[in-house]
Amino acid sequence: MDKSWINILNRLDPLYENGAKEFLHFASLDRPDASAILCPCRKCRNMKFVRKDLIVEHIVVDGFLTSYTSWIYHGEELFSSKLVNQLDKGDEMQDMLHEAFGIPPTSNFVDMDTSAEGFDGSNQHNMGFDKKTEEHGLQ
Ligand SMILES: [Zn+2]
Repeated sequence: MDKSWINILNRLDPLYENGAKEFLHFASLDRPDASAILCPCRKCRNMKFVRKDLIVEHIVVDGFLTSYTSWIYHGEELFSSKLVNQLDKGDEMQDMLHEAFGIPPTSNFVDMDTSAEGFDGSNQHNMGFDKKTEEHGLQ
C-alpha cells in the first residue's frame, strides 16, 4: 500500500485527502461493523476512537501521524502472510524484497515533533498490540 502521502506537507493536496480516504477504507476492512476507529491524526494519536465519517477530516485538518507507518492498530500485520508466501517463490522475489527493504526511509520528511512521540510505548499501545498479534496467531 502506498503511504507516501503521509509525508506530503501540503495537506490541501488532493493526494493527501485521497490517502486519508484510502486509510479509512483499509481500516474499515479490518472493522467493517465498527462505527468508530482509533484515529491516527496528530491530536488523537491512535488513543481516541473517532467516528468513521470524521476520520478523513481529522487527518486532513490535524495531519496523519508521520511515525505511524505500520498500521498495526487498523488491521495491518507486521509481517503479512502474503509476504511470507512470497519468500518461498525463489531468488527473484527475494532480491525484490531485499531491494524493497534496503531502501532507506524518507528521513528528510520525518516530522521530528511527532516521530519522537508517536510510539512512546505507553501501556495502552502495548496492550492493543499484544491483543492484535494474538488474534493473528503470531505469538
Ligand atoms: Zn483525530
